[in-house]
Amino acid sequence: MQRRTWLRLVTTGALGAPLLGLAGPAQAARNDALRTTLKYQDKPNGNDRCTTCAHFVPGKAPTDKGACRVLPGDTEISPAGYCVAFMKKG
Ligand code: SF4
Repeated sequence: MQRRTWLRLVTTGALGAPLLGLAGPAQAARNDALRTTLKYQDKPNGNDRCTTCAHFVPGKAPTDKGACRVLPGDTEISPAGYCVAFMKKG
């Protein structure tokens, strides 16, 4: 691809967001492959849930979906979710 063509695609947004990872925080994304590997579920496992996990990155409000440090690129993690990488907050 010629440099001029590449720049046009990036500046028009046709290629920029997916190529550069510039998807805004309001744009939801899921890491389905890693979710499957880690057996992620949208419900707790007993008392273990994402809100009590050291890897959880909360959303704006306590009930908003958040992110997870071991599920890169996923912004749809339920506060009540759980996966096998659970690590209780210290
Ligand atoms: Fe939730 Fe698993 Fe991430 Fe912990 S590691 S926040 S349990 S998805």
